[in-house]
Amino acid sequence: MMDRPRRCVLLKFGELALKGRNRPRFVNALERNLRRMTADLGPIEVRHRGGVFIVSGDMPQEELAERCLGLPGVSVVQPALRCERDATAAADAAVELLRELPGHTFAVRATRRDKRFALRSIELARLLGDAVRVRLGLDVDLSNPDLELFVEVDHKELLVSVERLRGAGGLPVGTSGRALVLLSGGLDSPVAAYRMMKRGLRCDFVHFSGRPFTSPESIYKAYALVGRLDRFQGDSRLYVVTFGPAQRRLATAGAGRLQVLSQRRLMVRVAAALGERLDAGALVTGDSLGQVASQTLPNLAVVEEAAQLPLLRPLIDRDKSEIVDAARALGTYDISILPDEDCCQLFTSKPASTRGHPDDLRRIERTADIEELVEQLAESAELFHPTLEERAMVSAATPASRGPSLG
Ligand code: ATP
Ligand code: MG
Repeated sequence: MMDRPRRCVLLKFGELALKGRNRPRFVNALERNLRRMTADLGPIEVRHRGGVFIVSGDMPQEELAERCLGLPGVSVVQPALRCERDATAAADAAVELLRELPGHTFAVRATRRDKRFALRSIELARLLGDAVRVRLGLDVDLSNPDLELFVEVDHKELLVSVERLRGAGGLPVGTSGRALVLLSGGLDSPVAAYRMMKRGLRCDFVHFSGRPFTSPESIYKAYALVGRLDRFQGDSRLYVVTFGPAQRRLATAGAGRLQVLSQRRLMVRVAAALGERLDAGALVTGDSLGQVASQTLPNLAVVEEAAQLPLLRPLIDRDKSEIVDAARALGTYDISILPDEDCCQLFTSKPASTRGHPDDLRRIERTADIEELVEQLAESAELFHPTLEERAMVSAATPASRGPSLG
């Protein structure tokens, strides 16, 4: 028996509910990810109720809800009060919640997950409506209320809430397999990574540094970005490849206006070699059609031809402004805009070709002895595990934004 109503957060799954036979696997992955993502807030209790998790702990409810908004696989995040399974307790909880909010009219939306409850949904709604009307002086308006009160009848308790926030959606990280993300330190690739995580891919990362011809800032940025993204999955791996000498070899082989394109092809070859060792089923890049010369349709095709794994480009149809908004919401924006020296601009001669011919690229690659280069670069990649401390540091600097209310 509960005496006072307790604060909790309800997490509802969207697509997850459709997954039939795979369902237990999805639910377990979601719970594991939830626990990892909230670990620094303190221990939580997770109760499973059909398509819903009821999550509670000693941390402030708002902090817990905020954190859950970013969790892939959750479609609705609902801060709630848990109370005893009787109408009087629910009325007290309803009054407690609504008292704090501005508004003149309200509606009660009641549902029963446990159909054995003594009152039908409509009777319960009416009862709570009367209590709110009398005790708070609000008017009922079922079609266009200022405030909505959601009441869910569960097997052991009643759940009362006034706020339904849109969750991240998608699928729990880890339920779709693995991918290796080409992470540049710019704005696009971290957003691309998050989008694929949201489709259930556990991601590892590879960054190509122009060392020794560029400064190490881009590596620090990649490290911080992985730290930021790690909160969605934990144990992220970052490979750093020293790329400068290989870039020079391509330049010496006469790449000229095809320098960027031949580098991009070499990147995906090395990434595929690493990816196969990591059991990755795909590579991910932040390409967006037409954004720069290397992202024209012919050039995207020429890069794809060199990739031994499927190449996923989740930002292909995105405008830069949309990507910037997504980066801000994700908390990667502030890291991505820090100054660095991008390796891509090394040894380039302008203007870059917008239509690289595969035969020309293959000629450059033969001259540069690309097979040997790929092996050597994959072999010499350095492995990092951006740690939890980094994560805490980065997330403190860039709070995630709150999701829009579903009303
Ligand atoms: P970003 O903001 O992600 O750097 P961009 O608009 O600058 O993207 P490009 O620099 O042309 O675009 O890169 C396209 C994609 O190629 C990147 O999104 C990333 O996936 C990959 N890429 C580019 N440079 C690197 C790098 N140094 N290391 C790893 N991946 C890279
Ligand atoms: Mg870039």
